[in-house]
Amino acid sequence: MIIRAGVKGLQPEIAIIFPLIDAIFTNHGHVCVLTSAVRDKGPGSLHPMGFAADFDSMRDVNPVTWKLIEKDAKEAVGNEYDVLAHDSGSGMHLHVEFDPR
Ligand SMILES: [Zn+2]
Repeated sequence: MIIRAGVKGLQPEIAIIFPLIDAIFTNHGHVCVLTSAVRDKGPGSLHPMGFAADFDSMRDVNPVTWKLIEKDAKEAVGNEYDVLAHDSGSGMHLHVEFDPR
């Protein structure tokens, strides 16, 4: 896994899933990059508290593979986490947040 410069402030509940996410990207032939963690974002986001992280690949991921990565990640991290492969304006990435309910 590659961690982009400036990423900091993650909660342990998010940090402990990194090996799982890394392995999933590897299984699908991609190098996992942690692109974003704590940042300001609108209400409802867990990024400001460090309970969310975004992952991308070193190269383009096709839409089918994004769906597979999302599915595998959901299974790997369990139901206390929300997992979504989406494009919220900055390009496709895998968003994972710790959100036990
Ligand atoms: Zn996110």
